Amino acid sequence: MVTARFRWFPHGGRRHAVPNALVPNTAGETLCGMEVLAPLVPPPPFPDWCWPECARCDTAWRSAEGTSPRPQFPCPRSDDRPERPRTTAKTGDNP
Ligand SMILES: [Zn+2]
Repeated sequence: MVTARFRWFPHGGRRHAVPNALVPNTAGETLCGMEVLAPLVPPPPFPDWCWPECARCDTAWRSAEGTSPRPQFPCPRSDDRPERPRTTAKTGDNP
């Protein structure tokens, strides 16, 4: 069984990743480098757990776990993608 090394932690309007070993009432550091104090009482489900994920923590977590980078939506355009043919409207041919 694989145990998680990190968990999400709402702080300052974002959900950051912290080591799973961070216990309540101790100071620790998020994966993006912020100092945090783990609260004795869990944060409220709303709105704290609805805050967006910290992109730097997400990237650091994925790197530490060796997983693929976060998918981007919409997908970035590739430069080698063929350009769609454009229709050109001719002017002056219509009576
Ligand atoms: Zn973060």
